[in-house]
Amino acid sequence: MNSVTQAPQPQLTEVNYDPFESRELARAVPTTEAQRELWLADQLGREASLAYNESVTLRLEGALDLAALQDALLALSDRHEALRSTLSTDGTSLMIVPRGGLQAHLVDLAAQTAPEQDRALAAARALAVNEPFDLVEGPLVRATLLKRGPTRHELLLTAHHVVCDGWSFGVVAHELMALYARIAGKQSADTLPPADSFGDYAVAQHGSEYQAAADTDTQWWLRQYEGGTPVLELPTDRPRRAQRSFDSKREDLVMDAALTEAVRKLGSKQGASLFVTLFSAFGALLARLSGQDDIVVGVPAAGQANEGRTTLVGHCVQLLPIRMAADLEQPFADLLKATRTRVLDAYEHPACTFGQLLKKLQVQRDPGRLPLVSVLFNLDQAIRSEELSKGGLKGELLSNPRHFENFDLFLNASQTDGCIVLECQYNTGLFDAASVRRWLELYREAVQRLVADAQLPTVAAFAPTATDLALLARFNDSALAYPRELRVHTMIARQAAATPEHIAVIAGDKRLSYRQLDQRANALAHTLREHGVKAGDLVGLSCGRNEFMLVGLLGILKAGAGYVPMDPAFPADRLAYMCSHSAATVVVSDGSVAEVPELASATRLLLDDMGKRPDAPPPAGSVDDVAYVIYTSGSTGQPKGVRVPHRSVTNLLASVTREPGMTARNVVLSVTTLSFDIAVSEVILPLTVGATIVVADRNQVVDGDALRELIEVAGVDFIDATPSTWRLLLAAGWQGGSQIKAICTGEPLPPDLGRELLPHVGELWNGYGPTETTVWSSFHRVLHCDGPVPIGHPVANTQLHVVDTQLRQVPVGVVGEIFIGGEGVTLGYHGRPDLTAERFLPDPHRPGHHWYKTGDLGRWRADGVLECLGRSDHQVKVRGYRIELGEIEAT
Ligand code: AMP
Ligand code: MG
Repeated sequence: MNSVTQAPQPQLTEVNYDPFESRELARAVPTTEAQRELWLADQLGREASLAYNESVTLRLEGALDLAALQDALLALSDRHEALRSTLSTDGTSLMIVPRGGLQAHLVDLAAQTAPEQDRALAAARALAVNEPFDLVEGPLVRATLLKRGPTRHELLLTAHHVVCDGWSFGVVAHELMALYARIAGKQSADTLPPADSFGDYAVAQHGSEYQAAADTDTQWWLRQYEGGTPVLELPTDRPRRAQRSFDSKREDLVMDAALTEAVRKLGSKQGASLFVTLFSAFGALLARLSGQDDIVVGVPAAGQANEGRTTLVGHCVQLLPIRMAADLEQPFADLLKATRTRVLDAYEHPACTFGQLLKKLQVQRDPGRLPLVSVLFNLDQAIRSEELSKGGLKGELLSNPRHFENFDLFLNASQTDGCIVLECQYNTGLFDAASVRRWLELYREAVQRLVADAQLPTVAAFAPTATDLALLARFNDSALAYPRELRVHTMIARQAAATPEHIAVIAGDKRLSYRQLDQRANALAHTLREHGVKAGDLVGLSCGRNEFMLVGLLGILKAGAGYVPMDPAFPADRLAYMCSHSAATVVVSDGSVAEVPELASATRLLLDDMGKRPDAPPPAGSVDDVAYVIYTSGSTGQPKGVRVPHRSVTNLLASVTREPGMTARNVVLSVTTLSFDIAVSEVILPLTVGATIVVADRNQVVDGDALRELIEVAGVDFIDATPSTWRLLLAAGWQGGSQIKAICTGEPLPPDLGRELLPHVGELWNGYGPTETTVWSSFHRVLHCDGPVPIGHPVANTQLHVVDTQLRQVPVGVVGEIFIGGEGVTLGYHGRPDLTAERFLPDPHRPGHHWYKTGDLGRWRADGVLECLGRSDHQVKVRGYRIELGEIEAT
């Protein structure tokens, strides 16, 4: 008999009796097809193999007769062939030895404190799932008994899946307790009926009768996938890697007894089992999360139950890839009925292994993911503690979390004592614990709503919770008073009057004070009026990267017109398009810019010798007039000219002045082409607060060393740039300093860039926004960069919404499309009412206002900030987003 070892940390030692030592065989049988598939999968490597370590804890309370327990383990492994078998080297035969040798390795923790014991137990559980099995050498079952005290023990039972499945563990636990009770002589124990033989089961699977059934069932399954095999696309927290990984963790959430009972009742009212009810709700969750309505979820079906061999221990489980039509608009009761039919049909066709089906289906293989089934759902058999309480011991069965898992997501609903524990293994390469926990909460919340009303449209069960709604309301509470009656140039004129001698612009060796800038712009404004330009007109702006660029911009506004940036560096045909499409009759330019023949339809006005005028022409127009039209390069078709009114710009200026904040003391770098709207913060914003603009010339914009030098020499302390410009600067050895306020914008801020930038700047902000909603719609102050950088909270008088394809708000943690409402929403596309109507939708909460449909995917985080997950480019009515390798595409 084993001695009790005193070990602070659990370690496995040799069992006393090695049944495989002598290799004296009782029997060799062909392995089942399913076992062969497992054998193959096991060959993929250590982690793949560890995904098949099945492990449970049998918690035993009461005075334990150790010798009786060891004898019971021996007797158990004697009873079941699977527990005393190994595989042949090629995986085709199951080698069964005559006697079982299962013995528990003993670890005495009794002398340790409770926290020490907990740690040791956790380590033992980890070891159980992290110690690979050798399929050929064996043994394929292990037991460790941890003693916490005289009446408190935990028995860890671990087996390779190839000899023991979930069902089998239930049988093992039951029988072990019955055998113990009999051996310990504690009570008149029931004698166990003879065990079903796994060898016979395996042999039968090679018989003609089973093969015929397998053919029929395979045909049936092939028909289920006649139209193709859908790929479930859950939103991942990290891009999927090219090669599959197996690292996995588990999140648990309890559904209490009352809710569990209510689910059972809901199901029975609709003629559905608890399994089908929970499964239907889970399918609906997946549909809600993925935006897909045709989804495949794997369900392990116990072969023992099918065959009526309920005491059979071995690998008898079949993975059924159940295809579910998850139309979330229908009442849940209907979804439940439809799913019930599908599940029952599937269960009638179990005689087809998953591997065979895949081969026949010719599913395209992707080394980054499991084919066909990436998510698994299972409901464990209910085990009441009384059934495991025998021989004076109170038993409780718990499953041990795996560290490696085959599936992206595996929800195991485990029933104990009337409750259901939702145990969700998830691939840590794809998902964060917080996301998975949130999904489990959504699931429980949805089930709660459905038991109250099964006629609810299924999607309504996944509506935001009261907590979500409160969070969103707080988030969007962005009201701020701003000078709504002022136009942009009026704000600048006021600033010029207040600080006339302050330097407004530095461009090369040219400097303009606020007074000089104002007076030159006045001269242009008068000239434009003389050329017939009036309020509401559009005027082209095509200057070099110099001081004229600012004179031109301000002069056009003072004339009452809106400016259309026509960057002379752009291709001529593009300039021609902007010029003719905007119907600009005048293009303001300077002598440094070569004449573009394609712009000849408009009058070219050169700023070089325009002189200055003390006063502006009389004001004309209103705050609803266009301040600028920026042509954004649509990914398809012609560029679209976004019409941005003064009031939207004024609102943004008020917001940005406050946060991230800019003052008269700032020296601001102008590095962005005016054709990109973030230039608004470089050329307009500084002039409204009295700051100084330093214009980078065409060479400095693209040459990191030159740009770094300019910044250092001119004392620039406010930089707003795209990730590529930031990388350019860093690559040039720019050191920055704590005086620098940095905004990264235009594209997602990659976490690695954020990490690199943080030590070089005083403040780092992530600025997000489409041109259509006026430069920026949200800001996030970046303090650390461990993962995806959120886009933060809205700018003043702006609301960000994350909605589904039907424009319904999605709950926290669910991916939807970002819609933007509020003062930043612009007037739409110049001369394109059709496109405008497509992207600017009536704001459901504020009649007369609009929401802009960004095409960006977003998700609320539980801590109340918004994440932008990239572009979706889907149409409102099209279902389904595809999220892959950091990119998001429509399906
Ligand atoms: P544009 O209209 O050219 O300004 O492009 C706007 C689009 O750029 C947005 O809809 C986003 O897709 C992307 N974008 C801009 N800034 C960010 C940001 N900080 N994070 C993520 N995406 C951004
Ligand atoms: Mg933008």
